[in-house]
Amino acid sequence: MATESQIPLVVGAGPVGLTMANELARHGVRCRIIDQAKARSETSKALGIFPRTLEVFSAMEIADRFLAAGQQLEGISIHQRESVQTINFSAVASPFPFILSLPQSETERLLSEHLAAQGIEVERELSLNSLEQSAQCVRAHLHHADGREEVFETPWLFGCDGAHSGTRHALGLNFSGARYDESFILADLQLDPAPERGHLHLYFGAEGILGLIPFSDNWWRVVANIPPDSRSQELPEVTLSDLQTLVDTRGPAGMRLSDPIWISRFHISHRIVDEFRKLRVFLLGDAAHIHSPAGGQGMNTGIQDAFNLAWKVALVIKGRAPAHLLASYQLEREPVARHVLNLTDRITRLATLRHPLVQSLRDFLLPVVGGTAFVSGKVAEQLSELAISYRSSPVVENLGSGRLRAGDRAPDAELRDKNGQARRLFELFRRPRHVLLLFLGSRPEKLDQAPGLDAVLEGLPSELIDRYRIGRGEGLKRAELFDLSGNAHSTYDLVDGGVILVRPDGYVAFRDPEFDPARLSQYFGRNFVF
Ligand SMILES: Cc1cc2nc3c(=O)[nH]c(=O)nc-3n(C[C@H](O)[C@H](O)[C@H](O)COP(=O)(O)OP(=O)(O)OC[C@H]3O[C@@H](n4cnc5c(N)ncnc54)[C@H](O)[C@@H]3O)c2cc1C
Repeated sequence: MATESQIPLVVGAGPVGLTMANELARHGVRCRIIDQAKARSETSKALGIFPRTLEVFSAMEIADRFLAAGQQLEGISIHQRESVQTINFSAVASPFPFILSLPQSETERLLSEHLAAQGIEVERELSLNSLEQSAQCVRAHLHHADGREEVFETPWLFGCDGAHSGTRHALGLNFSGARYDESFILADLQLDPAPERGHLHLYFGAEGILGLIPFSDNWWRVVANIPPDSRSQELPEVTLSDLQTLVDTRGPAGMRLSDPIWISRFHISHRIVDEFRKLRVFLLGDAAHIHSPAGGQGMNTGIQDAFNLAWKVALVIKGRAPAHLLASYQLEREPVARHVLNLTDRITRLATLRHPLVQSLRDFLLPVVGGTAFVSGKVAEQLSELAISYRSSPVVENLGSGRLRAGDRAPDAELRDKNGQARRLFELFRRPRHVLLLFLGSRPEKLDQAPGLDAVLEGLPSELIDRYRIGRGEGLKRAELFDLSGNAHSTYDLVDGGVILVRPDGYVAFRDPEFDPARLSQYFGRNFVF
């Protein structure tokens, strides 16, 4: 039986599908979300939530729940023989300068509960079997647990169905890449004596890498690579005693392992799909790209795919943006996924080097290079995913020069309102809409020299775009938000003033240091339907 519907369909209720459904709801679009599994996964899988993902959760107004459930790690300690280098996250420019350690099962629980609070339940034991699509709609063939078949018509389908994605298979897309020869072991257990719990610990040894990651009160995740065994294609079961031997050879002396709650051995691959979208069907998360777990980027990158796409879909569904906005999803996210894939591949290869001479070189260079605050800061920034930028996207526009450009993440800064209360830019960006910031700068008369700007601003629909005048110095008289220290102006590299339009996902859509009303108006004309 075919059901006529204008409701989008999210396939897969892992962290990415749940983020997509939550974000669509926050932007005022109800969806269906289905999952073939009977219940939520109970395994801890991805443990590390990085600063940019916490900013995403903050925009979704659920960061507090994550912070209450997880454990904050200051950074990563890299142990080599007697030396320890630290990649410290405390200096990253984010309200969340740390890694949050939280089992993926908990991340999924919090996202599911938030979705239920928005009135949407995951429909379980319901799987996507196949699909076909036309220019008008997608027909999704669904299979219910009781054997019932359903054909659901939907305007948009989001394949968040993981590494073995049936959506991707149905689209006939290539998932190019390769499998690593090495296999990996992962176990959740107790350690005694345990290392210091404020950091994730990595040990580089001749046999390979060992990671010890604290989570949930007294638990530890042990992760290690196992060199390829040419004799066997099978992955033998791993016992606690195998793990003990592994920790004895690679980790600190005298550490006893006990009470394993989960031991898993698996192969990993690095792959990326050749198209992130085909007509009315999109691929997100592991369905579109899988990487080595080194660097812990998989889940974080997928969640940000959803955060990038949901607001665009919502605007198009509401008829407030042209359909070409959706093409920017692939153009913006594919380079990010490729970058993450290369980064995690480099980390994996560095960690699993086998030649003794090359290992010696690595062991000599790591403390020298990694010991500098500059390199440590750069690595933390990369892993935080704060440096992601969409500068070459066709839906952003940059005018003039400046350090910060359209496409970059819009940074936070503290301001004051008329009552002297502290207001943060990130607070303004939390509403599910664009935010237009008029930095009045040190020469607010520049605004007067931009005749026509007021008319452009008056024409903006308030349900789509919030706007604020931010003053400093002479500009304070005309402002509604005060940048008393000048910090917001300098962070945005607009000491002399200018216009910034921030997208609902917190990236700069448009930047113009000259308040040119015609350019702003043209930008709105191209990217919105008013
Ligand atoms: C053992 C292990 C350890 C990992 N460790 C880390 C780590 O430390 N750090 C990290 O960042 N990442 C890690 N990952 C990867 C991380 O778990 C994934 O990147 C993340 O789960 C991707 O989320 P997703 O929502 O895209 O896909 P998934 O979490 O795979 O969710 C897909 C969902 O789709 C459902 N589904 C599939 N097919 C269908 C269908 N036809 N119809 C309906 N529903 C369907 C599935 O039941 C599932 O619930 C690990 C993965 C594994 C397996």
